[in-house]
Amino acid sequence: MKIILLLTLSFCITMPARSQQENYEVYAIKFTSMSQKSAVADWAYGAPATDSINIDFVIWLIKGVNGKNILLDAGFLNDIEDAKDFAIVNYVRPDSMLLKLGLKATDITDIILSHPHWDHIDGLNLFPNAQVWIQKEDFNYFVGAAWQKDGSSGGFNKRDVRMLTDLNMAGRVTLVDGDNKELFPGIKVYTGSRHTFNSQFVLVETGVSRIVLASDNIWVYYSLEHMRPPSTGGTFDTTAYVKSMQRMKTLASGNKYIIPGHDSKVFSLFPKVAEGIVKIK
Ligand SMILES: [Zn+2]
Repeated sequence: MKIILLLTLSFCITMPARSQQENYEVYAIKFTSMSQKSAVADWAYGAPATDSINIDFVIWLIKGVNGKNILLDAGFLNDIEDAKDFAIVNYVRPDSMLLKLGLKATDITDIILSHPHWDHIDGLNLFPNAQVWIQKEDFNYFVGAAWQKDGSSGGFNKRDVRMLTDLNMAGRVTLVDGDNKELFPGIKVYTGSRHTFNSQFVLVETGVSRIVLASDNIWVYYSLEHMRPPSTGGTFDTTAYVKSMQRMKTLASGNKYIIPGHDSKVFSLFPKVAEGIVKIK
């Protein structure tokens, strides 16, 4: 008995102080911006007409110690017609941005698609080895009902529909079936905000903090700070969108760790690691 006690005691004394292990590093990567400020009211319902905001286009990298290099969304190629409406500047192709973090396009193992709008899906083919994860209902709507006469295909580009269909037939798409699904250890997706038919957001448990990457399930900070739905066209269900933001608050380590999809403020809130890239921590 004495020996056991002694052994336990010496074990306790020699144990190093437990430090938290960071299993995933999370980065926000800006690949282009709108040249002009826009009205916050264009993005968040009921915002004061005089408030303005800088809008960025972003992908997020989740870099695992397990060798996984996961993107949330793939950005777009700048020859896409839809980009013209946004008068974009300082475009750098998403895969070129990753070089600043020492990653090649071929190093990306997985891409979680929050939703299939052109600015999030069009860059998929830049990453030849990535498995694509999209909600099953979002996929079905994107390739099917959106194009029927009562459908809603706003923000969808036909070339992206063909690309995703081809990737699916090549076995490179996994359809995620519903809410609260763990895709990788510590990485879960959630539905409910209905930015598109069944868009999803991501929770990363890094080991140090719990980060919600909302993508366009929150367009801008104003929505989160004032619990406001997006402006017209930003969701199929405004009540569900607000409820989903409430839920994000229960999932993240704090409101600071809830990251909207298009608000340039993200890039001043977190430490810069390269031009256009911050580490969320
Ligand atoms: Zn977007």
